[in-house]
Amino acid sequence: MAASSQPPNPITQSADYPPARSAAVRRGRQLEYITLAWNSAEGVAALVAGLLAGSIALVGFGLDSIIEISSGAILLWRLRAEADPQRRERVERRAQRLVGLSFLALAAYVAFDSIKGLMLHDAPRESLFGIGIAVAALIAMPLLARAKRQIARQLKSGAMRADSRQSDFCAYLSAILLGGLLLNALLGWWWADPVAALVMVPLIAREGVEGLRGEGCCD
Ligand SMILES: [Zn+2]
Repeated sequence: MAASSQPPNPITQSADYPPARSAAVRRGRQLEYITLAWNSAEGVAALVAGLLAGSIALVGFGLDSIIEISSGAILLWRLRAEADPQRRERVERRAQRLVGLSFLALAAYVAFDSIKGLMLHDAPRESLFGIGIAVAALIAMPLLARAKRQIARQLKSGAMRADSRQSDFCAYLSAILLGGLLLNALLGWWWADPVAALVMVPLIAREGVEGLRGEGCCD
């Protein structure tokens, strides 16, 4: 008698489900849980540090964490839909579009934020805590992005690939944050941070459009 008390695992239930794919899905979920945990901490820390220091750039960085969290949550939803191939395809397309929308939200926010910074002549304000957060993200995010890209290739998932780009952009934004602080401290270039962020806007928006079109997986 099969008196198993464990709930059936929808992913491995199917006899013909490839074990390598099952392992990739598990690893993908781990990466997304790391994303949620990291960005919750990063978001709260950056928002608090940014509001205390009155730094638009740091608050923007914290808001980006919220977008990364939503992208991670979308991917967890996508990775749960593995058992049924038809449902998987449907969820994959929807997840990729939703991550695309989250990129457009990010692009709109960064554009608004940097134009506001330029108009208000807002010099990036230093916050040691903020610098610490940005350095941590600069080191961790490229590693996380690379691990996600590997899983995206294994699963042929454009949604996962798009989510890996969210982690990349987090690293770019932290580099801009640090570069802006440095240039302001050394050369008094208060505008370096908003101008660099503005340059990123079309790149971020392109990711969003690719996501909405369902392009950009794994070649
Ligand atoms: Zn981030």
